[in-house]
Amino acid sequence: MTTREAIQCLRTELSGLYDPREVESMTRVIFEEVLLWKPVDIVMRDSEELPVFFPSRLNEIITRLRRNEPLQSILGKARFHGHSFMVTPAVLIPRPETEQLVDMIVDQNPGSDLQVLDIGTGSGCIAISLARALKFAQVTATDISRDALEVASRNASELKTRVKFVEQDILSCRAPSEAWDIIVSNPPYVTESEKATMERDVLDYEPNVALFVPDSDPMLFYRPIASYASRALKNGGRLYLEINRAMAQQVCNTLLSVGLRNVQVYNDFNGNNRFVTAIKIIE
Ligand code: GLN
Repeated sequence: MTTREAIQCLRTELSGLYDPREVESMTRVIFEEVLLWKPVDIVMRDSEELPVFFPSRLNEIITRLRRNEPLQSILGKARFHGHSFMVTPAVLIPRPETEQLVDMIVDQNPGSDLQVLDIGTGSGCIAISLARALKFAQVTATDISRDALEVASRNASELKTRVKFVEQDILSCRAPSEAWDIIVSNPPYVTESEKATMERDVLDYEPNVALFVPDSDPMLFYRPIASYASRALKNGGRLYLEINRAMAQQVCNTLLSVGLRNVQVYNDFNGNNRFVTAIKIIE
């Protein structure tokens, strides 16, 4: 099988199921992850005979894509903030919106030696990206899931990044006083009723514990995070949250109710309310 034949095979097998532009971007990712080829290689080496293992691997990938499995879970890898992260069924696949959250934190915090806490780290994508992008930051990351922490610490060592991982439930964390310059969290925020309208690929291949909150209490995780932050942030420290686009007002109220200041909502690249930030100010 040549490069050209592989590309044609992906186009034919996936047409009608995926948008042609999506097929093209998946093709680039497959060549990059399976053969370590750069996008330019796909053009330059288009008549090259591919390694013998490739056709059967491609066949397996196509079969799973046709069943709506996300490409990242098939490959066990996801790109985030310029790096490749291992993903397993124990963690949420990093979303492009969340890269914006990382960028926002990096832009707003040019200082060095910051103490940073990521609550509910999953694959570790936020914590690890911050540890790489902030100057000499000391990053700690928590998760309730031991399996997730294992994935996160493998990602950290794979990317030669130092992050301290701690097994902890957001709902029961006790706050040290004034420990952190930055607290960030992308907690579960999809309500059970929204689950009904979600794509099957999300439901089948990602952990419910990372995604859902009951309809009766969508602030389940924001409340303890806010109250923890109101105690554990240093004076002038900042809280950064990813949110359900339908819940900006409720999240803002939750943050204001614990005395945090400068509460602001930011949009993601789709124009949805997606992030809320706040500052702790001690008078
Ligand atoms: N943005 C994710 C989704 O739409 C949800 C992430 C989360 O619950 N924190 O599936």
